[in-house]
Amino acid sequence: MVLMQGKDLQKDLKERKIIKVPVKHEIEPTHNRPEDLEKAYEALKSALGEEWVSNDINITVAYARDQSVVPMNHPHIVALPGSTDDVVQIMKIANEYSIDVTPYGTGLNTLGMTIPPYGGILCDMRRMDEIFEIDEENMYCTVGPGVTFAQLQTETLKRGLRLINPSTSANASVVSNIMMGNISTLANKYGVGLDHIIGYKVVLPEGKLMVCGPKAYGADNAHLPGPGPDVRAFLRGSLGTMGIVTELTIRLYPEPNELKLVVPIYDGDDWSYIAPALRAISQRNIAIENAYFQNTYMGIFMGETNLEASKLIPLLPRHYVVPVTGGMSIEEVEAKAAVSEEDIRKVAPEFDFMDWETVESISEGRILGVDKFTKFFRESVRVQRVKGSFFVGFGLDHLDNLVEINKKMMQAMTTQVGSDDNVFSADLIATYFQPYDMGRLGFIEFDIFIDQSNPEDSLRTITGTIAAMVQSFKMGSGACFGIWPLIEGAGPLHDLIGFIYPQAGTYVDTFRAMKMIYDPNNVCNRRWEYDTLRMKKVAF
Ligand SMILES: Cc1cc2nc3c(=O)[nH]c(=O)nc-3n(C[C@H](O)[C@H](O)[C@H](O)COP(=O)(O)OP(=O)(O)OC[C@H]3O[C@@H](n4cnc5c(N)ncnc54)[C@H](O)[C@@H]3O)c2cc1C
Repeated sequence: MVLMQGKDLQKDLKERKIIKVPVKHEIEPTHNRPEDLEKAYEALKSALGEEWVSNDINITVAYARDQSVVPMNHPHIVALPGSTDDVVQIMKIANEYSIDVTPYGTGLNTLGMTIPPYGGILCDMRRMDEIFEIDEENMYCTVGPGVTFAQLQTETLKRGLRLINPSTSANASVVSNIMMGNISTLANKYGVGLDHIIGYKVVLPEGKLMVCGPKAYGADNAHLPGPGPDVRAFLRGSLGTMGIVTELTIRLYPEPNELKLVVPIYDGDDWSYIAPALRAISQRNIAIENAYFQNTYMGIFMGETNLEASKLIPLLPRHYVVPVTGGMSIEEVEAKAAVSEEDIRKVAPEFDFMDWETVESISEGRILGVDKFTKFFRESVRVQRVKGSFFVGFGLDHLDNLVEINKKMMQAMTTQVGSDDNVFSADLIATYFQPYDMGRLGFIEFDIFIDQSNPEDSLRTITGTIAAMVQSFKMGSGACFGIWPLIEGAGPLHDLIGFIYPQAGTYVDTFRAMKMIYDPNNVCNRRWEYDTLRMKKVAF
């Protein structure tokens, strides 16, 4: 029996504190029908080997959630492909029996992207963890989708190179992160996900292979892509709706020998100095990292518990702009740091500069001392969350607008959420800005921390976040990185696009037409009904 295999499910769920997981899926007329699931399960076992496929609820339930507040739902079958050929087989079987397929990297997304709305096959890519190539001379590498940032960064650093890591878990998959975002405090100098992509191999929804980038025409990865249109961006942000990436080639960058951090701080209520300070650093383009942090972030990084973070936050200055300079010698980094400091002083005279002894004494004895802090910032995970999950609003706009957008988002969130002892108070929502592309634009991250096991907390936070995002959009900021595949077909949300972005019709029509051509049997992640253009469940 596909749906309910396993031991004492209720006892197991209780022991593992898994709440409200639906144990049965609704039976649907076209996809994931019980008899087809049985056949697909048998076919998958013959194709991949029995040990790499499971329909045991004790296994499938482990894939029922990601890092979002989206209600849980488990797949019917979990498959772990070991090669591109295995992925081709999975897609062919899924097409033959009309079973949904959801690719799964490490489930670290915060928007419910790996929660299969209707069950089906969840394709866990973790076995494909091979680093195929690191080309030191031309500074690129090719990896499988199971390779994590920790794994790859360890190898590249041995060669004096680095990849650009986001501030998510070091265990996140490089492929899924770079395909959907890869936003980091290094973005000003090195760019975001798409900027790092040289090429990839993808299994399209019907099981055909496509190669993008220089390798598409047999050239070396060091070449520029060509000769035809460059379709590398085609899959970026498509969140598994247009196929499954099985190999990705990305750029690597030289790792400097020495680093120096400048820590300008400002404790006033006037935020107007922040954008000019960030821009000065961005345009000079000698810092490898450039970001603004609020004291909330510093408190969260340094506090080992909620309570400690809450006590620390009011003691810390409110605003931080943190340029990190790098170079081959101490003299080089010190000279760059001095220029950065001078640049900031010119445009933001209100800033003080923290001396290094103070920074060290604040962090002394803490889990996250200065050494680890800078290490976390540069090379690996730098996320220390003290409570449950969090909800993020990303905006994208000119640096000058960031402060005003942040203010409006704060006001909207405060009005909507209020505060009590159980959440960080709304005016302590953590904010940071990351300038991008020499300060031409920037990202605003706006985090509020949620206790997912408390429905009231979740609801308040979701409504607060929506209120904050509406404000942000009204002020001209934009959603970025593949939100559309999640809400295509999603009733009222879908219909809102015309109001928010009147010009988006052609883009949306093109994405929809492409999806319907490439995925005619409608199996590849996020199904909406092709005839009604509606989704039965809104998972966002
Ligand atoms: C605390 C925290 C902090 C974070 N901070 C950042 C940050 O600073 N910067 C940043 O960029 N992100 C950040 N994130 C977001 C998150 O880490 C990324 O979304 C994450 O990298 C997604 O990777 P994953 O491997 O877990 O993907 P998953 O969650 O497993 O999948 C993400 C999407 O990609 C699809 N997918 C997975 N594998 C493939 C594949 N091989 N081919 C095609 N589609 C695939 C999935 O179906 C899904 O739609 C943060 C998340 C958390 C929890």
